[in-house]
Amino acid sequence: MSQTIQRTEPCPICQMPVDTHKTDLVTERDGKLYFFCAPGCRDKFLAEPCCAKPKGWWGRFLDRLAKANEKEFGEGGPSCH
Ligand SMILES: [Zn+2]
Repeated sequence: MSQTIQRTEPCPICQMPVDTHKTDLVTERDGKLYFFCAPGCRDKFLAEPCCAKPKGWWGRFLDRLAKANEKEFGEGGPSCH
């Protein structure tokens, strides 16, 4: 397993470039190293079991939207008569 570590790597949470030579905020997952710009980002990453991408909250948002629609229109979605 060989991962090329660049001088800067994007923070997987907020995509900020992180100086890999300076940060201690690093964690390994699936043989890949992830660098973080802030402890909060690392915590967020560790809290997410699989993929901690901006998609995370977006996916949750869409789920919530789908649920709200279900409530409003029933399981079949909006229908016209
Ligand atoms: Zn970050």
